[in-house]
Parts: sequence; structure tokens; C-alpha cells
Amino acid sequence: TAACLTAMEGAGALNAYAHPTPDIAQARAAAADDRLRTGDAPAMCGIPIGIKDLFCTEGVASQAASRILQGFRPPYESTVSRQLRDAGAVMLGKLNMDEFAMGSSNETSVYGPAVNPWKVDDRRLTPGGSSGGSAAAVAAGLCLGATGTDTGGSIRQPAAFTGTVGLKPTYGRCSRWGIVAFASSLDQAGPMTRTVRDAAIMLGAMAGHDPRDSTSADMAVPDFEAALTGDIRGKRIGIPTEYRMDGMPEEIEALWARGADWLRAAGAEVVDISLPHTKYALPAYYVIAPAEASSNLARYDGVRYGHRAALAQGDGITEMYEKTRAEGFGPEVQRRVMVGTYVLSAGFYDAYYNRARKVRTLIKRDFDLAFEAGVDAILTPTTPSAAFGLGEMAQVDPVQMYLNDIFTVPVNMAGLPGIAVPAGMDAQGLPLGLQLIGRPWEEGPLLALADVLE
Ligand code: GLN
Repeated sequence: TAACLTAMEGAGALNAYAHPTPDIAQARAAAADDRLRTGDAPAMCGIPIGIKDLFCTEGVASQAASRILQGFRPPYESTVSRQLRDAGAVMLGKLNMDEFAMGSSNETSVYGPAVNPWKVDDRRLTPGGSSGGSAAAVAAGLCLGATGTDTGGSIRQPAAFTGTVGLKPTYGRCSRWGIVAFASSLDQAGPMTRTVRDAAIMLGAMAGHDPRDSTSADMAVPDFEAALTGDIRGKRIGIPTEYRMDGMPEEIEALWARGADWLRAAGAEVVDISLPHTKYALPAYYVIAPAEASSNLARYDGVRYGHRAALAQGDGITEMYEKTRAEGFGPEVQRRVMVGTYVLSAGFYDAYYNRARKVRTLIKRDFDLAFEAGVDAILTPTTPSAAFGLGEMAQVDPVQMYLNDIFTVPVNMAGLPGIAVPAGMDAQGLPLGLQLIGRPWEEGPLLALADVLE
């Protein structure tokens, strides 16, 4: 904890922590020391971690990187961060992210972007998003692990951009209670760490049934670390032909082939598979996610939480809503709310929202069929490129940014577990990641395969 706090002081330029909590960290570290001395140490006793700003933390600013939640200090703790605390983990602070987790570069944050500790010459690179602060902090040694959330790739894409490990669990594995909602049918919390083993340990502390989240699964939490046996002989790994996009950089192709070779060398069988509805995943996601977001974000009305606009004489409640939301939400969030309300409006509901839900079912069925045919896991690149420069993508247009999620979004649409593992570097020496997608509830076997790739 002390070493991380010192490192944090010297790493302000990374803008990874939005709200450092050194006092809380010191108090919890001291308590952890006592427990270690008495020999009653839980799994993560004394391990310093960062918490994404999307998680509500009792008495500590929890702003989802949005102006509209400025000044909000929740009187309660999210289930996941409470479980981590109970497991002995020490919170160092709240981590930067994209506003309401909407983005792939951390540039929509009210705190300004987090910066990738990896760089080429003086070019400042994005750590990815939305869990960009989490990824930057883990990569720079400003914590040993961090929480992330992943709605369409927000754990795995930043992990790939920073050479770290990021796991999105099966939908329902971790409680969403106390995590600011973006798209409730897709959101899932997960660990971001330096190694696969750390991810297994941290997931064990985060997971579990919670009566306060009706979508959290009432299932026992297996010992994920015990699943790391090193033995993956006889496992069947699928390579989906549809992920072989036109224009994919050669180094990503090569990395993917190398990953398949490593798994084969460890005794797995690698087979080609087809997931025919892949190309519809991204457009359907960008209907469903904004639809749910527009509904979830209706609660920020200037009355219940955070920011309220200054009002003029004669302003009524409508002006209060309008002015507060116009000032409080950044441009990307406003874009999502507008898309979401449009696709949910009476005249367009069937054409967009219902159509997207049907597509989602087809995407899920593609994966079901592959697993029924005996595939244990699916290997793909995590992202179509290495980290890009800050300011570069945002200038092009929002759709360019959305394309970054092309390999990660289908996994959320199907509710499956997915893990990003650092697996190589591009010609400039920047990290590249591979993604493994597993069967539902099989994070253990998935971690075992990822351990071989690492
Ligand atoms: N980049 C995607 C989006 O902007 C995914 C974000 C996420 O997973 N939270 O929606």
C-alpha cells in the first residue's frame, strides 16, 4: 500500500486516479496488518486495489466521471467493492473512466483522459476505455488490481491496450448492486490485473449471489485459482472465420495464429468455427445499449443526485430538468440518450429496438451451437489495433470509435465470459491482446486456457 501511494504521487500525469483515498488506504492497510499477524487473513488481505469511479463507495465521491454526479457521496457501498473490502483488499482510490462508461478511450471523462503508461516517442496514447483509469493504474503499478466494468468491451479493450489481464465474467456472476447502471442487460463487473492468477483470485472475491440484484446468479463460486492446473490437453478451441475482417493489420493476424499455435503446443485441438451473425452484433449493440442507457439515465433530474443547474426567474421544473441535463451530461452521453429515446419511441420500437433484440438472440444462438458442437472456448484478437493516440479517434467520428469494440461486443450480447490476455507487441512495441471466450459459468477453465497464453 505504501509503495503504491508513493507511486501514485509521482504519476499524476497519467490521470489514472480521479479521487485518491490515501487515508482510507492507510487505515485499511493497518487493519490488514493486524489480521495478518493474528493469522486470520482472508484471500486478498492487504492487497492494494483501485476501484472504478462507476462503483458506489460509502462516503467517497462516486461520480461515474460525469459532471451530473458532482458532489455525490453515496451512503452505501456496492456489493462488489464491499466483498473486496471484506476479503481484505485495500482501496487506494477511485479510478478514471469514460463518462457513465460510454466510450473506448477515456476521453469522455469529466476529469480529462487517463493516459496509457506505454508510449511511442512523445505520442500520448489512450489506455482504452471505458475502464481506462483501471488499466493505466494496473499497468503502471499504481495498484495490484482494479475493478472494471464491461458492457461492450470496457474491461478487455483497455487491458489489451495496456498489456494487462482483464476478465469479463458471465452475466450474473457478480452483483450489479451499487454500480451505476449503463445498459443493465449487458453490464458486468470484473477484475483487471497483471496476471491471470491474480484475476482468478480477485474474481473469487468479487463474485457471488446477491439478493439485491435479481440478475445475479444463485450459484456457488468455484475456486478459480484451483482451476489453473496448467493442463489444457484435449480442450477444443474454435477460431471464428467471421472475425477475420478485411483490412485487419497483419501483426494482429500473426498474433492470432501464434496464440493458436501456443494452445496447440499445450495439447489443445484448434478448429475453425462459424459465428454467422457476427457482423450484426455491433449495430444491434448500438441500439440496445443506448436504449437501456436512456432509461437508466432518466433518474439524473437535478433533484435526486449531484449537480443542479442555476435557474432563472420564472423557470419551472421542465427548465430545471433541461438545463441540468444539458450542463451535466457530456456530448457522448447526450448522443446515447437521444439515440436511445429515438429507438424506443412508439413509431420506431419495432423497427429498431425489437429488431435488435432478435439479432441478439441469433448471436447468442451462434455461440450456443458452437459450444454444443464440442468447442470449449473461442480464440480471437481482443481489438483490431494497438492503442491509438489521444485525440486521434475522437476527431474522426463516433462510429470509428465504436468499431473498436467489434471483437468484444458479441460476448456481452451473449452474456458469456471473456478474458483479454497480453500476447505480443506490434511493430512499435505496443502491447496487443488475445481474447478467449468461454462457455457460461466456466470462468475457471477459461482462466486455465488464458494462463497458457500468458
Ligand atoms: N465502448 C463501448 C461503448 O462505448 C463499451 C463500453 C463499455 O463496455 N462500458 O458503449
